[in-house]
Amino acid sequence: MSHLRVELLIDNQEIGTDRYAVVRDPGRLNEVVGEYAEGAAEHADRAAQAAHRAFLSWRKTDPGARAELLLKAAEAVDREAAALVPLLSRETGMLPVAFKTEIFLAANQIRAVAERTVSFLEPRLVTDEKTRIAVEKRPLGVVAAIVPWNAPIILTMQKLAPILAMGNTLVVKPSPNAPLAVSVLLRKIAALIPPGVINVVHGGAEAGSALVRHPLVRKISFTGGGATAKRLIRDAADSVKRIHLELGGNDPAIVLDDADLDKAVPKIVEGAFRRSGQICFAVKRLYVPESKYEAVCEQVCALVDRFRVGHALHPDSTMGPVNNRMQFEYVNGLAERTKQAGARVIELGQAVEPEQWNNGYYLLPRVVTHVDPGAEVVVEEQFGPILPILPYRTEEEAIRMANGTEYGLSASIWSSDRERAVAFAKEIEAGMKYINMTNLSLPGMKHVPFGGVKQSGIGRETAEEGLAEFVETQAIDVCMD
Ligand code: NAD
Repeated sequence: MSHLRVELLIDNQEIGTDRYAVVRDPGRLNEVVGEYAEGAAEHADRAAQAAHRAFLSWRKTDPGARAELLLKAAEAVDREAAALVPLLSRETGMLPVAFKTEIFLAANQIRAVAERTVSFLEPRLVTDEKTRIAVEKRPLGVVAAIVPWNAPIILTMQKLAPILAMGNTLVVKPSPNAPLAVSVLLRKIAALIPPGVINVVHGGAEAGSALVRHPLVRKISFTGGGATAKRLIRDAADSVKRIHLELGGNDPAIVLDDADLDKAVPKIVEGAFRRSGQICFAVKRLYVPESKYEAVCEQVCALVDRFRVGHALHPDSTMGPVNNRMQFEYVNGLAERTKQAGARVIELGQAVEPEQWNNGYYLLPRVVTHVDPGAEVVVEEQFGPILPILPYRTEEEAIRMANGTEYGLSASIWSSDRERAVAFAKEIEAGMKYINMTNLSLPGMKHVPFGGVKQSGIGRETAEEGLAEFVETQAIDVCMD
């Protein structure tokens, strides 16, 4: 298979470095998908300087013209989809179907930002006979977008669109675990826009931390794990940097006693195991009424047993491997600790190509039953194909357990009575609550501010709130006497 090499992109120039790292296919560890130039602190500095120079003119461009450029960027995303999907599958290990949807949604998100840009940036004017006040929304300057590997296209585009639309310039640091496709796409978009407005610095903690500490970078928009976020907050302190954090979730699905189980359970299973559980808003714990516990466990297991785990591009695969060694070892260790603590850990599904099993980070999906509500697999984010199911006796108990973690990204509530589910949802601490589904609807993608409460994040992405992340107000108050 072809071997791709991506450099850094600074001022629309391809910049090589003295270190190249390879990206291996998580479903064929003996195959290299591509390699990328690894950036260090000096490259983060060069990129920040380039973005700062570009900012001086980009901030003055007409918002309508910026929106037009974003529409062209959305077209580029659509145009590149066919080439990006197999590359994404090979670098992340996830099935192509996930990326077809992701790229479609990413282009939609860019268009939604373009549509809102001009009206959002209208200044607020207040006048009387003695005063004239204008409150303007102004760009912040250089923004660094630090992104994870699990949905690299949409998570990057969801930042890029509002950052540029509001008049900021950008340095993107992709994840070392999935840097290739996103870097290829960013080049296509950067070619439509003045040099320096979009820059790309690959690398890990060193490059990321250098961007976070850089005085010319005015804001960090970060999507990733909580442990990294804590380091980032410390690094951001010296330059009093604004931060926007989209962090992990441990989303509960709560089935109420009147739910239609035949409709609900298949959707819950899909919501828990798509992308092998590696998605921030995946269902990560399932609460069911005690009277239905055994029946639901059986139904879940029957569905999970249908998964065929194999290479992302194998036509028989319905679940891919997990993305990296750390994740692979964590989920295996977690399953072992859960078993040792006395819970039932049921391994289900089948391998598509058993002879390749040790040549990838393959895990069979697992269901955990009869587990302590305070167990690690329940209260921590597993981010892999393992789902604990817990019984509850009263709704109060379900609410207490659902709210009993430091996470609060999203939650799903399942009932035949939508209004009852909505009333229940108001008791749940989460940024986004879904009734009888496990993700935002298409209109929800446009109108719901995406993000979590508690330690699932600070700030919101998309919708008006997502634009507000990348402006600050500057006001002029005129004496009219
Ligand atoms: P991660 O925190 O390990 O890495 C995220 C990014 O931070 C990567 O680009 C990484 O290179 C960079 N980084 C690492 N150390 C850094 C440092 N010291 N300074 C600056 N940057 C640094 O996360 P991951 O494993 O790539 O992603 C999985 C996590 O992301 C999960 O917890 C998942 O729930 C979360 N996530 C959240 C959302 C959301 O929107 N809330 C979406 C997707 C993933």
